[in-house]
Amino acid sequence: MRKPLIAANWKMNKTVGEAEAFLRDFIPLITEVEDTDIVIAPPFTALSAVSSLLKGSPIQLSAQNMFYEEKGAYTGEIAPGMLTDLCCTHVLLGHSERRQYFRETDEILNKKVKAARAHGLTAIFCIGESLGEREAGETFAVLQRELEEGLKAIGPEGIVIAYEPIWAIGTGKTATTGQVQEAHRFIREKLSALYGNEASSMRILYGGSVTPENIDALMECADVDGALVGGASLKPDSFARLVRFRR
Ligand code: PEP
Repeated sequence: MRKPLIAANWKMNKTVGEAEAFLRDFIPLITEVEDTDIVIAPPFTALSAVSSLLKGSPIQLSAQNMFYEEKGAYTGEIAPGMLTDLCCTHVLLGHSERRQYFRETDEILNKKVKAARAHGLTAIFCIGESLGEREAGETFAVLQRELEEGLKAIGPEGIVIAYEPIWAIGTGKTATTGQVQEAHRFIREKLSALYGNEASSMRILYGGSVTPENIDALMECADVDGALVGGASLKPDSFARLVRFRR
């Protein structure tokens, strides 16, 4: 049995005060949720404050990115050890916005995933095709390449995959449940080729315009084990409804 995981990616949103206000409203809404893992990824500037407020709650803390080196002359970067120091348990890696705007390649991401695992951080590793790639029939080839290159020489422990079709992120265009299940089944098959039986216990999240209106149907898909959510995770009521999805 794979325990569902619902993760919030706040991207470049929320000051420290706004993050604290969110948690004051959100935590009481999810007190009885036990059968779903909840992860929140605030911006770096709010990690410390959020970490303090999450103490004693079941919610786990994630960063949205990190560098792969331990320390040194890398102005503006954040090391894995700095995240564990703040009690982060997860880190998002390979988000399409990082790949697209910051030129993060499969090779760089492979180093980042390795560094995250070396520090005991669970990597929420994002993969997904652009609209052009989907229309050109390249979806599966892209997913296969991103998986094989990004996870090269890395074991299955502490890896969560997030399938995020780029054309569905922040656009209000959710993939259909048929498209989602087809991609997730393909990813599960590729994970089986890489990791054998262990692939059956790996979680594959869907991301791309997930909302309180579509979460229940998405969670019905056999290979969907949770969601990575941007826009709809910014309001406490909305994110609480996602965490309390109904299957
Ligand atoms: C994301 O940022 O990972 C994401 C899926 O965003 P949204 O839910 O807003 O589409």
